Amino acid sequence: MKVLRLGTGDLLVAVLPGGPEVLCRLEVTGGDPRLLPLEERQPRSEPPVDVTLFQGLPKGDKMDLVVEKSSEIGVSRVVPVVTHRSVSRADPRSSPRKVERWRRIARGAAALSGRLIIPEVTEVMDWSGAMSLVESLPLVVMPWEAGAPGGLREALRDAPSSIGVFIGPEGGFEKHEVEEGMKRGLLPVSLGPRILRTETAAIAALALVMGIVGDLGGPRDSWNTGWQSPETGESNNS
Ligand code: SAH
Repeated sequence: MKVLRLGTGDLLVAVLPGGPEVLCRLEVTGGDPRLLPLEERQPRSEPPVDVTLFQGLPKGDKMDLVVEKSSEIGVSRVVPVVTHRSVSRADPRSSPRKVERWRRIARGAAALSGRLIIPEVTEVMDWSGAMSLVESLPLVVMPWEAGAPGGLREALRDAPSSIGVFIGPEGGFEKHEVEEGMKRGLLPVSLGPRILRTETAAIAALALVMGIVGDLGGPRDSWNTGWQSPETGESNNS
């Protein structure tokens, strides 16, 4: 372990995915620095809603960005979907490698954000696979820039604690996809008056969902109790 700017007596918090957070004191005397555990707590870095992002497969490596940012925001599950207008067809030979990469990205982003779970990245699904999953969720909104009757905010009034968000690829959804989706339970919504690129739409929609029914935008301690320094009584939430 390398210690850069910290010295003996400094407090730090060790976070392990799925485990408790441990408040530790650093001891740097002679040999290797040691961490002395002082106190444990169950962190509350997980949002109160469970959000699944269905992402119409975008071009190039945009999916990397979507997986990373949605993991930071608090997504539970990312489902890459080949829709009618996905330019990037899932090549059966390259897609397992891509899915592996997205899983690594989700793991890294979750760790850096202090999350307790690593968001799941499923295999790439086709439309009918995605529709079966849609049917298993109580609410799945489908941001649609071309004629959704209402906005996302309205759709989330009295929202359940498990929500799906289905974003189209660069070219958007075909009308027949919207119609079929509606039959399977998708609710078309507007994200506002400007057309966002697919990756922006995914990140913005998740941030909105987490802001409206989750914990984004609240004070850090709205879900956490915070640490009290055992010596000074000062809180240490850095
Ligand atoms: N079809 C459009 C753009 C698609 S944007 C065109 O080519 O001009 C890609 C995806 O982002 C859409 O399928 C939709 O899910 C989402 N999106 C972007 N802006 C949106 C908005 N203002 N309202 C709702 N959804 C939006």
